[in-house]
Amino acid sequence: RVVVVGSINVDSVVRVERHPRPGETVLGEGVELLPGGKGANLAAGAAAAGADVLMVGRVGDDELGRRYVGLLAAHGVDLSAVTVDPAQPTGQAFITVSEDGENSIIVVAGANGTLEADAAARAIPDDAGLVVTQLELGAEVAEAVLRRGRALGALTVLNASPVSPAASALLELADVVVVNEHEWAALGKPADACVTLGAAGARWGAADASPDPVDVVDTTGAGDAFAGALVAALAAGADRAAALRAAVDAGARATTYAGAQPWGFAG
Ligand code: ADP
Repeated sequence: RVVVVGSINVDSVVRVERHPRPGETVLGEGVELLPGGKGANLAAGAAAAGADVLMVGRVGDDELGRRYVGLLAAHGVDLSAVTVDPAQPTGQAFITVSEDGENSIIVVAGANGTLEADAAARAIPDDAGLVVTQLELGAEVAEAVLRRGRALGALTVLNASPVSPAASALLELADVVVVNEHEWAALGKPADACVTLGAAGARWGAADASPDPVDVVDTTGAGDAFAGALVAALAAGADRAAALRAAVDAGARATTYAGAQPWGFAG
């Protein structure tokens, strides 16, 4: 099965005509609560693509955390390895989107920030066939998780996002590195990375794929959906070209709805 270790955030999205300057107040046009966090987005994408997914992460002892866990469970993700932090709130991102499409984002890590590297690694069961993580929980967690995956003989996948200088040292622990073009450049353009190219699709070594045209609504989480579908395909035994094709299509679909996941919080 696929084990995803990563962040769980609830996104509050407010649309504004333009962003406020420091000290200024502007009126928002409503607020939307959307499931987010790179880890949870990837887990949702992998489950939507048919994988058997175990999520390792941490939420707060609060309503947002309970709703989020319920939402992911309803969509087939196993959350038995998600722990509850009694002291910190569930991670949240506060996002304002202006009319010209520019984002500004504040992330409060909350409970994500208290998932320790050792605990994250220990939560990965012996029967993990593929272990995937990103960098929203920090490089230390990612390193421990990839080492544990290697020790188990699992396929290890690093979605090196958000990229940081510490990420370069992790490349040798990952069998597959998934990045966008900006992250790829920041890592020194590793030869064998799977690189997403926005509307142009993605390339991975000699393989490449481009999406059919879609009506783009919101590209938030497209990279996470891509990575989720990619790991689902690889775990199911697909070759590079087939996995890339499935991932590019999933990434394109993820641009056709608001938010990072195809579903929202009901009620
Ligand atoms: P990130 O969101 O991590 O920056 P990309 O922008 O490269 O990553 O997008 C990831 C994937 O999402 C692409 O490989 C592609 O499949 C899909 N995608 C992104 N933007 C578009 C778009 N404008 N039209 C169609 N597909 C897109």
